[in-house]
Amino acid sequence: MTLKLGLIGHPISHSLSPWIHAKFIDLAGLNGGEYKLYEGNPNQLPDVLTQLKQNKIDGFNVTIPYKQVVLDYLDELDSDAEILGAVNTVVNQHGKWKGGYSTDGGEGYVRSIIESFPSLLNKDTSVLILGAGGGAARGIYRALVQKRLKRVDIANRTLDKAKELLPLGKDFTPSEVLTFHTAEKNLSQYDLIVQTTSVGMKPKVQEQIIQLDNIRKDTVVSDIVYQPIMTKILQDAKVHGARIHHGHAMLLYQGQLAFEKWTGKKLDVSHLVDELEDKLRGE
Ligand code: NAP
Repeated sequence: MTLKLGLIGHPISHSLSPWIHAKFIDLAGLNGGEYKLYEGNPNQLPDVLTQLKQNKIDGFNVTIPYKQVVLDYLDELDSDAEILGAVNTVVNQHGKWKGGYSTDGGEGYVRSIIESFPSLLNKDTSVLILGAGGGAARGIYRALVQKRLKRVDIANRTLDKAKELLPLGKDFTPSEVLTFHTAEKNLSQYDLIVQTTSVGMKPKVQEQIIQLDNIRKDTVVSDIVYQPIMTKILQDAKVHGARIHHGHAMLLYQGQLAFEKWTGKKLDVSHLVDELEDKLRGE
């Protein structure tokens, strides 16, 4: 039986997911499997979903603008999807669509960090998240606090948006909301700094969200922006002697998690990080 997978959203023509999942299908030895793009504008969700039903799709990813509205069309949700009010992976379980899982990439992000820095996340670890957006920071915050770390603080331009994330962490890990200015002053407290804003993304590659003058050398600076691969803040982290973690690794491990939900197979994808980097660099 051919595995049928796909992505719904708009715009998605530049998505790297077909490339990533074609690699996974090969790795899993599922010859003839497919991962197709199902593009539709915001009003076309019912039509897009009808296509998926007709194609008897085994599973699909969901991106903007459907992450929230797709909830109304699913048969079941996992607890993360219910709490976060968004879905990015749907599994066809004997004809019923179940949504949730790696919502907004948080768990994929944590997998990518552990792959590169296996002992970084523990009860003594202090994390600073820069940004509080619904697209990525929310899922990353939730996945990190569930690791029961020493603290996970959030700095954001709009403090109220950061405060909205705090209820997700209250049962797990202490957190505080900071201005970027305070975060810059206190930088030496943190073992991991996760940059989740769009600042530094192409074409504005010279922008950097905070200055790293107070950073420690053993701190890991992680930027989820992956275009460019080497963002300004990562360059600066290197200049300060800190360790770095690239955004495309999150993309890959988010895919690994979805593929696992669809097929039950947890693939070793570590060797694909460099291949994905080459692809992004256009090599
Ligand atoms: P989003 O929900 O729109 O969040 C944007 C965040 O950036 C907010 O915290 C916003 O602050 C902040 N921000 C934007 N412009 C700013 C500026 N000029 N100064 C200060 N703060 C600013 O976006 P998103 O969907 O989370 O995506 C953010 C980035 O993550 C994008 O570059 C995206 O490509 C990348 N991403 C990567 C992956 C991956 O797999 N590696 C996955 C998802 C997203 P306010 O709250 O104050 O507006």
